[in-house]
Amino acid sequence: MSRKPFIAGNWKMNKTIDEGIALVNELKPLVAGIDNVDIAVCPTFVALAKVGDAIKGSNITIGGQNTFWKESGAWTSQVSPKFLVDAGCKWVIIGHSETRGRFGTVDDELGKVLDYFGEKDVTVNMKAKFAFENGLIPIIACGEMLAEREAGKTDEVIAAQMKTDLAGFTKDQAMKMVIAYEPVWAIGTGKTCDSDEADRVCGLIRGIVKEMYGADVADAVRIQYGGSMNEKNAAELLGKPNIDGGLVGGAALVAEKFATIIKSAK
Ligand code: PEP
Repeated sequence: MSRKPFIAGNWKMNKTIDEGIALVNELKPLVAGIDNVDIAVCPTFVALAKVGDAIKGSNITIGGQNTFWKESGAWTSQVSPKFLVDAGCKWVIIGHSETRGRFGTVDDELGKVLDYFGEKDVTVNMKAKFAFENGLIPIIACGEMLAEREAGKTDEVIAAQMKTDLAGFTKDQAMKMVIAYEPVWAIGTGKTCDSDEADRVCGLIRGIVKEMYGADVADAVRIQYGGSMNEKNAAELLGKPNIDGGLVGGAALVAEKFATIIKSAK
């Protein structure tokens, strides 16, 4: 089966509302008419609705960068799928390494490990299920840290993440889900994973999906690569059989670069 490539830009904590609108207004003509690639941008929560207005009528869609598994109520700071859908979102990134608790870092001044967001595989799974139930498609991110790769544990780390993150979806949901393989050591570092190795791990993920949901789902599911993908290395990565798209951080903040990546997937 041929899978439609999907390129998503994760803006992280960048671009004010006006800057976000300007960026998509620059991007629109550069990607106009491309209908064989799904294109998304994921602005900050506060910019979603306005950027959502700005992309209306274009081939660009929007997504959130995180969500929560309750609909509404006393959950200060959280944003449920209902609000993302209301702002025009189609997608939501879940389990990005920057929101996973295991990405805690040692703060030298405080002398302790900070567990910034505390996300675990079980909460990734709860968020993904709730996102599906409320009309969003989750982009579920996974990836090993440098120490895990150096210890030869990449495959077991990815398998453990995937088995919990992807558990209990309906077959229809599993067909639609998007998985992003993002080796943590490659995110924002300029150190891209070797394309054959990225393809191998994406293939491993596809094998896990096959075990969990069957060959038809494994064949349909889209697996993105993320980690310093840019306008120069995108074509090689996106040319690999198991890489169906990209989750792009830094290079998605510059319209020309992001458009080049999208065109490389075309
Ligand atoms: C990301 O934010 O998911 C990412 C891959 O960032 P970058 O492209 O900057 O490495």
